[in-house]
Amino acid sequence: IVAIRGLRKSYSTLEVLKGIDISVKRGEVVVILGPSGSGKSTMLRCVNFLENFDQGTITVEGRPVGYKMVNGTRRPVSEVDNASLRQHVGMVFQSYNLFPHRTVLQNVMMGPVKVKGMDNSKARDIAMKLLAKVGMEHKADAYPGRLSGGQQQRVAIARALAMEPSVMLFDEVTSALDPELVGEVLKVMRELAEEGMTMIVVTHEMGFARGVADRVVFMDGGVVVEQGPPEEIMTNPQTDRFRGFLSRHL
Ligand code: ATP
Ligand code: MG
Repeated sequence: IVAIRGLRKSYSTLEVLKGIDISVKRGEVVVILGPSGSGKSTMLRCVNFLENFDQGTITVEGRPVGYKMVNGTRRPVSEVDNASLRQHVGMVFQSYNLFPHRTVLQNVMMGPVKVKGMDNSKARDIAMKLLAKVGMEHKADAYPGRLSGGQQQRVAIARALAMEPSVMLFDEVTSALDPELVGEVLKVMRELAEEGMTMIVVTHEMGFARGVADRVVFMDGGVVVEQGPPEEIMTNPQTDRFRGFLSRHL
C-alpha cells in the first residue's frame, strides 16, 4: 500500500536520505527505529509530501507522491493530486497537532467538513464515535490547552482518523509526554493496529516495537541498515550499529 523506492533527499550539501527502500502492506505495522538525525522524520514527511525529495519514487495505494514517471522522466504531480493524496495519509507529530482556538470536537470535525464537504451533523456523529474510541468523548467541548499532552495526542489521532486514511504515520507521538501519559497513547495505537490499520510508526518505545510491530526498520545515516520481524532482528541484530542502538535504548 506504501512503496518507497530509492528515496534520496539533501538539505543543501547535507544528504539526509541516501536511497531508502521501504514497502508497507495493507494492515501492516512498521516501526522505524534509528538514532537522532538518521532521517526518520524526513522520510515520513516525504510520504505525504510535506517535504520535497530529490530522487526516487513513493506511491500510496498506487498513487504517485510528489512525482510520477512519464516515459522514464520524473514529472511533478499537480498540487491538487498532492492534496488529494494527503487525505489518504493521516499524520500525527510529536506536538502542536491541534488548533488551539477550536474545541476538541471542532478539531475532529474540521477535516471531513472542510475538505470532504461532509454535512455538520454527520461529521459530528463520526467525530463523537472517534472520540469515544480514543477515550475522549467526555472532553468534546474542551479546548486543547485544557488537556494533558496524552489527551491531546489521543484527540490528534482521532482527528487524523476522521479523514479515513489508508495509512497512518506517527512521528514520535509520545516523546514529549510525561512518562505516566505515554501508556494511554500507546494503548490507542495498539488498538488501531489490532483493528488492521496500516501504520508507519517512528518511536523510541522498544516495548511497542517488540509487541506491536509486524516489522522493524532500523535506519542510520540516511539508509536502512536492517529490517525484519521484531523478535528476530531485535533479539539477534546483525550489525554493530543496530546492536549499539538497542543496548542504548533498553
Ligand atoms: P530525531 O530522532 O532527532 O527526530 P530524525 O531521524 O527524525 O531525528 P530528521 O529530522 O529526519 O532526523 O533529520 C535528518 C537530518 O536532516 C538532521 O541532520 C537534521 O539536522 C537535518 N534536517 C532536518 N530538517 C532540516 C531542514 N529543514 N533544513 C536543514 N536540515 C534539516
Ligand atoms: Mg524526527
